[in-house]
Amino acid sequence: MEYLIGIDIGTSGTKSILIDEDGQLIACATAEYPMQQPQNGWAEQDPEDWWDAVCSTLRQITANAPKENIAGIGLSGQMHSLVMLDANNKVIRPSILWCDQRTAGECVQIEETIGRDRLVAITANPALPGFTASKLLWVKNHEPENYANCKHILLAKDYIRFKLTGEYATEVSDASGMQLLDVPNRCWSKEICDSLGVNIALLPKVYESPEITGYITPEAQVLTGLPSGIPVAGGGGDNAAAAIGTGVYAAGKAFTSIGTSGVVFAPTDKPVIDPQGRIHTFCAAVPGTWHVMGVTQAAGLSLNWFRNNLAKDLSYPQLDEACDQIPIGSEKLLYLPYLMGERTPILDSAARGVFFGLSALHTRAHMARSVMEGVSYSLYSCVELLQGLDISLEDMVLCGGGSKSAFWKQMIADVFGMAVKTAGGEGAALGAAILGGCACGVYASVEEGCKKTVVCVDEVEHCQKRNERYMAYYGIYKALYPAVKESMHTLSLMN
Ligand code: ADP
Repeated sequence: MEYLIGIDIGTSGTKSILIDEDGQLIACATAEYPMQQPQNGWAEQDPEDWWDAVCSTLRQITANAPKENIAGIGLSGQMHSLVMLDANNKVIRPSILWCDQRTAGECVQIEETIGRDRLVAITANPALPGFTASKLLWVKNHEPENYANCKHILLAKDYIRFKLTGEYATEVSDASGMQLLDVPNRCWSKEICDSLGVNIALLPKVYESPEITGYITPEAQVLTGLPSGIPVAGGGGDNAAAAIGTGVYAAGKAFTSIGTSGVVFAPTDKPVIDPQGRIHTFCAAVPGTWHVMGVTQAAGLSLNWFRNNLAKDLSYPQLDEACDQIPIGSEKLLYLPYLMGERTPILDSAARGVFFGLSALHTRAHMARSVMEGVSYSLYSCVELLQGLDISLEDMVLCGGGSKSAFWKQMIADVFGMAVKTAGGEGAALGAAILGGCACGVYASVEEGCKKTVVCVDEVEHCQKRNERYMAYYGIYKALYPAVKESMHTLSLMN
């Protein structure tokens, strides 16, 4: 029996898992680390914290394992987060994270320099503050000394790869989020790099996700306890890896996640680009495929916010029970989940949350139900957009913390008008381990790895009657944002 390791460098912590080749979880360990917010809207982490977390979790999961049977390792991680190394491979400044919002000015600079249409045609996405290129330009504009000292640019999981293997390498799915990749052609774009004045030599070598990118070095052996020589696969950005970990490896399959944020994700056989930039298009972890993705900024976060502030005495299951007593439509109460602005489909960082239709008869159970309904509508608007681009979403898996609620799962099935099943397992870390298994030859393909390891359970059907009821409210939901958009923007400018 051979064993595989998956490492996921998340924002709140790192999770490492050890599985056997049949997908049985042998060991799992997590280690958390802080996020610094030096100014409002800024978000940074120390890459050394990630490395410490990787070393400690690897030591824990391999403590009682037959280390000589570990055949391959895969990496996954938060996307977009910028790591800069100097000539001595020292980290120059804290990593500027995916959720950092300081680079609005640089996004304007990127679109003015390249032209929005050309930018979308090559990188498949409009300039967004979350993406890496604008962070790099911010350092160039505001910290020219740091930029001048930079010899290597890496992403979060690729810094860990460098520490494990000594190689400067990334893979196509994570590289897609840098806004320097030619996404249709799966290679760095010289045109974009030249236009932005980024020396292409600073960028790591780009691999496909299941390819070997390097091997555990003797130095890493000392720090992690892993035998040297184990191959490390390219791996994937967190959503690309989660797709593999939920068995969503081919067109026709899709997943919806309700984590802190929410995602509707679908693989495609060719790059499908929304000219309006309302969805993300990235290379997927299966060679020769891409994926499209819509994002709800505050999905689980909305319910978590509601519970923390208005229902601290109730557990999530108790909240479900209370919501189940309330009819569809929460007795004419609607919620827009824009607590953190919104990406898909409105792309508006100044948008904010709304309860609409509040009356004296409403209780907090009505409000809780309307929060879950509003998040479901927001995710459905991603579904609608993808379907409008002719993307098939026949085989839908629900994952993330919200999928633990049978009530919310049924609501998603009814709102989407389709059957929904749940993926057990370890999501992105499992996807990374499967990609590690492909790299070392334990699996002949990503598809074979998924079929051997991923189990989807408990499919629920949708009910047509309930779907019609939800859709009547969805029509009102969709009309609300355009009606209050201007007021939201005026509000955002208040002192
Ligand atoms: P992250 O994005 O941080 O990995 P998770 O996937 O763990 O987040 O999801 C966290 C969210 O899941 C919480 O904010 C909460 O809204 C939701 N959640 C967790 N457990 C339940 C539950 N039993 N019922 C409903 N929602 C839940």
